[in-house]
Amino acid sequence: MAMLEYKAELYGRGFHRIGRLEPSSQVCSACGVKDGPKPLRVRVWQCQECRAWLDRDINAAVNVANAAGLAVTACGAQVRPEPVPAQRGEAGTRSKSCRKPA
Ligand SMILES: [Zn+2]
Repeated sequence: MAMLEYKAELYGRGFHRIGRLEPSSQVCSACGVKDGPKPLRVRVWQCQECRAWLDRDINAAVNVANAAGLAVTACGAQVRPEPVPAQRGEAGTRSKSCRKPA
């Protein structure tokens, strides 16, 4: 964990910690209802409460951001007052549907 904090500071990125038992992939990021565990093969699911369709990974990422107290949307709304460009070798997780048209 110390290495992650060090690397985040080195590259001017934020570092936040959330609870290990946070059910990030079980909770609907749209309405907050806990929908229960799903097998890993389930990549997209529909919330039984609000009927939103959720990509497993993006939904979990939004829930992690919310748990860390960061105000974000699934399509990359700003987290900080000024955006920090990603480092060249840094992996991205943004889905194709969130990319701006060329
Ligand atoms: Zn929902």
